[in-house]
Amino acid sequence: MFSSQTRSDLIKRFQSESFDLLVIGGGITGAGIALDAASRGLKTALVEKHDFAFGTSSRSTKLIHGGLRYLKQLEFGLVREVGSERAVVHQLAPHLVLPEKMLLPLYEKRGFGSMLTSFGLKLYDWLAGVKPEDQRRMLTRKQTLKSEPLLQPSDIKGGAIYAEYRTDDARLTIEIIKTGFRNGSLPVNYCEVTDFIYEDQVVVGAKIRDVYNNKSFDIRAKAIVNAAGPWVDELREMDQSKKGKRLHLTKGVHIVLPREKLPVKQAIYFDVGDGRMIFAIPRDRITYVGTTDTNYNASKEQVYASKEDVDYLLDAVNKTFNGPTLTVNDIESSWAGLRPLIHEEGKSASELSRKDEIFESDSGLISIAGGKLTGYRKMAERVVDLVIDKYFQEAELKRCYTASIPLTNPGFSSYPEVEKFKQRFTPYLVHTYGSAAEQIVNKAQTKDLILAELDHCLDNEMVLSASDFFIRRTGSLFFNITRMTTGMESVLPVMKDRLGWDQTKMEEERQRLSDSIKLSRQFVG
Ligand SMILES: Cc1cc2nc3c(=O)[nH]c(=O)nc-3n(C[C@H](O)[C@H](O)[C@H](O)COP(=O)(O)OP(=O)(O)OC[C@H]3O[C@@H](n4cnc5c(N)ncnc54)[C@H](O)[C@@H]3O)c2cc1C
Repeated sequence: MFSSQTRSDLIKRFQSESFDLLVIGGGITGAGIALDAASRGLKTALVEKHDFAFGTSSRSTKLIHGGLRYLKQLEFGLVREVGSERAVVHQLAPHLVLPEKMLLPLYEKRGFGSMLTSFGLKLYDWLAGVKPEDQRRMLTRKQTLKSEPLLQPSDIKGGAIYAEYRTDDARLTIEIIKTGFRNGSLPVNYCEVTDFIYEDQVVVGAKIRDVYNNKSFDIRAKAIVNAAGPWVDELREMDQSKKGKRLHLTKGVHIVLPREKLPVKQAIYFDVGDGRMIFAIPRDRITYVGTTDTNYNASKEQVYASKEDVDYLLDAVNKTFNGPTLTVNDIESSWAGLRPLIHEEGKSASELSRKDEIFESDSGLISIAGGKLTGYRKMAERVVDLVIDKYFQEAELKRCYTASIPLTNPGFSSYPEVEKFKQRFTPYLVHTYGSAAEQIVNKAQTKDLILAELDHCLDNEMVLSASDFFIRRTGSLFFNITRMTTGMESVLPVMKDRLGWDQTKMEEERQRLSDSIKLSRQFVG
């Protein structure tokens, strides 16, 4: 069980025990660190101020990718690391990290030339150790247009197909959180670090506000890691250690179109003509398109797409694909996330490196920022190596072995096994819940499927609000908004019952869901 009851039990333990490591932030970075640390033998707690994956880790392009464009920036080390990690993460969660062939159209008057692309993709495959059968294939103009008939043909001179992986970022994060829990870490959502506790100017703990119950408590740990993504600098400020390098936040927006409005046959990575590239990714009944990359200085708690963002994306789609001109009215939903990048003087948003960096303060606070979803495991390994080196050199701890800890229980040994499982259960259930799809379907014999899913998430995924369920556990807000609007009426009363809410709380939750829907379709500014 990993439920609201588990949460209360863990909070009691937080107050009475002390820990080797406290991780701040339940995005993919913090989740990865907690799993790595606990599996090596460190007594680890993790606190997240909203829900797990509330921040950037539910608002990415949802690709486990090598980052082709980093080749252009000559970041070979980064491409090698994240490129090789793709296959590892696929192996750890083959139901959730799915192979996805990407089409790269080449144009006469813009973007890369054929020779350079051919060489670049070869290098990309080589750096990442891609299997021969998955390596890049160059296409003629005719083959490119056959591969994607929706492409506006006038300027196309050819193309390439190369291998990437697609995921659901929030689901990947929750699976890593749960795997961490199975391996001994204690992760809790809706608990915010409001201050640090010091002894002799060394950080030895944190003051926590349980946002759900409006209570406060202290937690003590030998080592403290700040993995708060876009909020990393706020915690460094709290620690009075924000010196030298600082974060540079950029916003990235995706729009969601019904599949019939943009019926691309496969994932496409296309040149926009202004030096940027964007993705169009089909997924079940929708196609999503993104991303933008603009400097951001407003609220980190509420990040939404502006009119300018969606106009930019719609313009790119309308120029690239045939068919009726798409407008704002065709957009079903959207999301916007913040990249927690490291500031580099004189560089534009798109030019900033995506590499992660670790900062150590005089008080002992360790902060990590930058990076990618794809590289979460290696980032975690580096941070935990540092923690062990600083505080636990004498302890008998294992070396990092997260490359062999499956992210489901029971896990799938291979992708063909997932494909076989999909013959028994719908792709949605298998890709969302993995092997737990079977229990959910069994439960659905006596209730609606959505309520069987809710039961599963309440019991096993620490769901505390209807938004946790509809946005981050099932992805309904992004991928099936109708399911959210119709499912809300049956879900809310069950949550009220199971979580002991009063009527006012249930109405607040209903309002919050309606606001999320409205804000995902209302583009201002
Ligand atoms: C538009 C966009 C597209 C992207 N696409 C991809 C992609 O396709 N593939 C890829 O590999 N990478 C991609 N990335 C990068 C990737 O999404 C991020 O690197 C990653 O999600 C960052 O995770 P994180 O855990 O560091 O931050 P977050 O996910 O933001 O997690 C930090 C968490 O810390 C919590 N927190 C903050 N303050 C406190 C506090 N005081 N107390 C407790 N908790 C706190 C926050 O609530 C938050 O949940 C993309 C990024 C963006 C913005």
